[in-house]
Amino acid sequence: MTGNVGWIEVICGPMFSGKSEELIRRLRRAQIARKRVQVFKPAIDIRYSAEEIVSHSAQRLGATVISSAKDILEKLDWRTQVVGIDEPNFVADGLVEVAQQLADSGKQVLIAGLDTDYLGRPFAPIPDLLCLAESITKTLAICMRCGNPAKHTQRLVDTEDLIVVGATGMYEARCRRC
Ligand code: ADP
Ligand code: ZN
Repeated sequence: MTGNVGWIEVICGPMFSGKSEELIRRLRRAQIARKRVQVFKPAIDIRYSAEEIVSHSAQRLGATVISSAKDILEKLDWRTQVVGIDEPNFVADGLVEVAQQLADSGKQVLIAGLDTDYLGRPFAPIPDLLCLAESITKTLAICMRCGNPAKHTQRLVDTEDLIVVGATGMYEARCRRC
């Protein structure tokens, strides 16, 4: 793309479906294209590394830690052309407005997050972002019970909190049937 055409790109699906991998891949390509890239991730998600986004397959990319969506605007270098945001579900409040503001000001915004929560309900802010995005990619994991494509994140621990940070052992990918 040429000129400062802003846009929003969403990568969504369940846990283990390769969202972070895909986000990292796209951001690396933007770096190869000599774009100015900045990556943000919530402070709550420090499962693997405090200052990097890391996929379950251990790919990583340096990131700026945020504690709210508004933080992105404060920590943004306005020369940045490509903005990556991982795990937006942890900073959902105000994120849609921030993404719109960034895209309206000519930035390419890439967001990778869970589309549904542990009960299969639409998980903010992804549903609203899907309506506003120029590009949408849905990623699927592999069902740990039957090996089919999986769109659901099954929680394995007994709690009803909406946000419980965890990875292998606490969550498992499952298909619709399983
Ligand atoms: P997400 O960001 O969607 O949670 P990641 O990009 O962090 O996913 O990790 C994806 C990687 O996780 C895969 O490439 C694979 O190596 C690994 N993986 C572990 N469990 C599964 C599973 N059930 N289905 C698919 N990939 C899995
Ligand atoms: Zn299954």
